[in-house]
Amino acid sequence: MKADKYCFDGSRPCELRRLPCDSREDGVDKAKIVEKTESNLQKMAALQDAFYADGREGLILILQALDAAGKDSTVKHVMGGLNPQGVQVTSFKQPNGEELSHDFLWRVNRALPPRGSIAIFNRSYYEDVLVVQVHDLQKTYRMAPRTVAGSKEEFFRKRYRQIRHYEEYLYENSYRVVKIFLHVSKEEQKKRFLERINDPEKNWKFSEADLKERARFEEYLDTYDEVITATASKHSPWYALPADQKWYTRYLVSEIVVDALEHCTHDYPAPDPAALDRLLDCKKALESE
Ligand code: ATP
Ligand code: MG
Repeated sequence: MKADKYCFDGSRPCELRRLPCDSREDGVDKAKIVEKTESNLQKMAALQDAFYADGREGLILILQALDAAGKDSTVKHVMGGLNPQGVQVTSFKQPNGEELSHDFLWRVNRALPPRGSIAIFNRSYYEDVLVVQVHDLQKTYRMAPRTVAGSKEEFFRKRYRQIRHYEEYLYENSYRVVKIFLHVSKEEQKKRFLERINDPEKNWKFSEADLKERARFEEYLDTYDEVITATASKHSPWYALPADQKWYTRYLVSEIVVDALEHCTHDYPAPDPAALDRLLDCKKALESE
């Protein structure tokens, strides 16, 4: 699939600055891509139906990005191809007091989907190695000295390991985790911020804090490189997708979700012979009413 090019599975380091933010390099035709996306959304719905009925595996789809890269619109669009009954979306905001008084994966466990369901994480526990690292928030943590006594590098190296182990734990407990980074360019982010300021219907989406984060754009790219490289694995890959053109991002995401569902178990449970006999009896009873 086209998205393979943007996949990181632990076999190579991630260097975002060498990856495109738009579709130019892939030489695709917009009309065809939009058509393919539609067909992927239909495939997705059919696969999800069987995946839900099967109920042996859970899928966790993580969306990470800088501001205005299109996380919300991606959620909306992917959801459009799914039955809401089998999906739950969790937005991970700044942790509240109760969350901060627990380990960083505590709130994640509570958001895990039951098997047969899909969880979409709009931001995730990756914030705990991204925004926390960029802003040195670990310095404000009330934790035992032995856990924070070492260097900053050491602290986050440990967190990368904890995340790798957590994802391995999830995989071994019948979950699949797929992680997507929406790679928007600095120029496109500026354009989208200006749109949010100029269009009254979009004003609510803009906050002054977004500009403060923008000032650290390069620092975030470096941190994402490190985080993606340290946490990509065969069973929980990262995809760093071009995000300057929403129609292309949506297509790539639709491919990834179809592929992930294809890899999950999705067999309609077959009734055993005795249950089948009872089913036929019910059919007869209904037909002879
Ligand atoms: P939008 O793109 O629409 O602004 P958003 O995902 O940025 O959506 P906000 O409510 O604006 O949502 O911001 C949530 C904020 O919470 C982000 O700045 C994010 O970095 C922060 N956050 C999430 N998890 C953590 C965490 N574990 N520690 C500190 N900050 C966090
Ligand atoms: Mg925000």
